[in-house]
Amino acid sequence: MSLLIVHDLSKSFGGVVAARDVAFSLEPAEMLALIGPNGAGKSTLFNMIGGQLRPDRGSVLLDGEAITHASPQERFRQGVGRTFQVAQTFLSMNVAENVQMALISRHDESQALWAPARDRHRAEALSLLDQVGMADAADRPCSTLAYGDVKRVELAIALASQPKLLLMDEPTAGMAPRERAALMDLTASIAASARVGVLFTEHDMDVVFGHATRVLVLLRGEIIAGGTPDEIRRNPRVKQAYLGD
Ligand code: ADP
Ligand code: MG
Repeated sequence: MSLLIVHDLSKSFGGVVAARDVAFSLEPAEMLALIGPNGAGKSTLFNMIGGQLRPDRGSVLLDGEAITHASPQERFRQGVGRTFQVAQTFLSMNVAENVQMALISRHDESQALWAPARDRHRAEALSLLDQVGMADAADRPCSTLAYGDVKRVELAIALASQPKLLLMDEPTAGMAPRERAALMDLTASIAASARVGVLFTEHDMDVVFGHATRVLVLLRGEIIAGGTPDEIRRNPRVKQAYLGD
């Protein structure tokens, strides 16, 4: 049984078909890249898997269980973690507190702002920060961090939910090339060691071909190709439609 099964998902906005019968599956520890030009439907697909958007048709199964109609919060509790393109950290709080908040929302959202509850999770937060190489910055306000470091903290926040599946929509947007590679190296090592399935979108083909274990190509709401990075690089239809050579 695959970790994630996406079965014939479709979504239109007015006359625009953003997803048409999209079907694929994802296994634990896979790094699956979703590529395609702007407007191809990548974010729409992410939002249907994350629960932010209702599909017109089709279903989403996590560990064999239908989550198609579950709220984002329910999916989060069932193991769907997510990072966002725009930083979601609370800038006025320090790094560890941001992770502690996420640890609380795994248990009881109503206590997220209650200081004693937050403090209970300090040790676990430090261990997560250690995994992403940010333990030394635990007591710094998030507002003082460099952009690449905020992204690492966001990864720790996503890991706080102990996700089985991690959705990363353009995780390296706005980062310098070397930072991009470092963040994706880190993500790949976590995916492998914690057996997390990662679905990510990425514009930088060096990152895609360097870090994905498998690639899906989306064009006008449809998957036009899927395979290993090597297969995708050589696929004539992909070259013509997307890679532009
Ligand atoms: P990508 O992430 O690949 O750039 P999107 O999923 O954001 O693509 O968009 C796919 C298509 O759906 C685009 O034509 C976009 O304009 C349209 N679209 C996405 N979200 C909405 C929305 N909320 N309302 C109307 N059209 C939308
Ligand atoms: Mg997008």
